[in-house]
Amino acid sequence: MNEPAVWDGRDDARLAELQQRLDTVRRRIDAATAGAGRQDAPPQLIVVTKFHPAGDVARLAALGVADVGENRDQEAADKAARLSDLRLRWHFIGQLQSNKAKSVVKYAHAVHSVDRPQLVAALAKAVVTEQERTGRQDLECFIQVSLDDDADGHRGGAVPAAVPELGGLLATAAGLRLAGVMAVAPLGADPEAAFEKLAGISARLRAEYPQATAISAGMSQDLEAAIRFGATHLRIGSDILGPRPAVG
Ligand SMILES: *Cc1c(COP(=O)(O)O)cnc(C)c1O
Repeated sequence: MNEPAVWDGRDDARLAELQQRLDTVRRRIDAATAGAGRQDAPPQLIVVTKFHPAGDVARLAALGVADVGENRDQEAADKAARLSDLRLRWHFIGQLQSNKAKSVVKYAHAVHSVDRPQLVAALAKAVVTEQERTGRQDLECFIQVSLDDDADGHRGGAVPAAVPELGGLLATAAGLRLAGVMAVAPLGADPEAAFEKLAGISARLRAEYPQATAISAGMSQDLEAAIRFGATHLRIGSDILGPRPAVG
């Protein structure tokens, strides 16, 4: 069965809309980067395309986007397969079950949601097998940290006390590269306080593992605060793509 083309490459209304929204977000990023005195080290934009069709990802690629984020394996695997001609880096940013590791390492450049030793082991095993098959690069791994004060915060992530152990596992696992930390600001809390806490966690991890320089933080609502506190990777969805459609 032939899949319909994801996008015919024509200059349509959706392309114009995405271009305009992307420009607006890029201007916000530039202003916040200048405001933080970080022009020499601007953050990298990852456009979160979850729930939006592959055609939108193709349009974004045509607009110069190189990094996209997804949070469900099946959806991400499907889009990555349909868009395999495009040079995109896929970032997995959602909660990940260990039994999905094999699938994720087939398309993902990075996983931002590493939150437990068992997942490190599953990703390491899967990526080494994939490297033998395809010679793929090492998988970039971010330790997702919970910034909620109550230990089992609903937005996911390891408690800060678990970060050193995860750092050690990621730094020594074949096929994995310890990139740094990732977090989502707790709902209803001050994002500045949350990202300041994350910057401290990052500094402590870097003291032990100097290569762990990345801080994945900042979404549509709080990208300015994240940039102020050192975010190196921004994960922006709705301000670029618009409201997420209902799951189809
Ligand atoms: C959906 C999502 C984002 C993007 O959020 P927006 O508010 O749409 O910009 C970023 N990070 C994670 C982990 C997400 O699940």
